[in-house]
Amino acid sequence: MLEPSKPNCYNEKMDQIDDYSDVRHKAWCIHCTASLETCETNRDHVPSRSLLDKPYPPELPVVEICTSCNTSFSQDEEYFAAFLGAVITGSTDPDVQTIPAAERVLRRNPSLKARIDRSRKDFKTLGGENRTIWEPEMGRVKNALVKNARGHVYFELGQPAMGEPVHFHATPLETFTAEEREAFFSMPMIEVWPEVGSRMMTRVFTGQDMEDGWIVVQDGVYRFAVAEDDGFAVKIVLREYLAAEVIWSY
Ligand SMILES: [Zn+2]
Repeated sequence: MLEPSKPNCYNEKMDQIDDYSDVRHKAWCIHCTASLETCETNRDHVPSRSLLDKPYPPELPVVEICTSCNTSFSQDEEYFAAFLGAVITGSTDPDVQTIPAAERVLRRNPSLKARIDRSRKDFKTLGGENRTIWEPEMGRVKNALVKNARGHVYFELGQPAMGEPVHFHATPLETFTAEEREAFFSMPMIEVWPEVGSRMMTRVFTGQDMEDGWIVVQDGVYRFAVAEDDGFAVKIVLREYLAAEVIWSY
């Protein structure tokens, strides 16, 4: 399954979205726009706890989303945590995992473990070096990362990033050229003009949790940056290994 399933109560009436500025976004699932009044709902953490280490940061933002979206994300987030754990440790063995969620998922889900094992390719370089690559299921990786990016836009800027992003990219940091690396990390913080009272506004003024424009959720584990300029751009760095970029245009 690569794409999130639409919830039963999926609401395609775009006229209801016009009300966003007034009712804020609490009445709608920020992922599919379903009216939360007519759906079963769940509370969802941003970022996903499966991508973090324990103890979790206090006051992790929570957003209420529809159960259909939540279910879709849960499966893809489990895969993503397990895959990331396998790549970082070079193994699907639960005993050697450094990401708690990866250990948990790989231990209790043998079919997912086998599936990730099959995505591993060992080869020898021309120089005779043994190398391993892992082929991610990008649809699932994307679903997990876009979900978090949308949550960051919502919490930091107080706005919904609706629909499909116009750009999505996730790649290991070590594959960046020096120029790509510089471009990725030179996220201008003050281009953002957050609304009064939003979390980003508070952060801009106090510098809380911020380092060079990046919001550090857990050091070495999860950091992200948000910018707004003809749309929303979110960059996420996971475990200082994976760099992701998600962009929505207005
Ligand atoms: Zn939804």
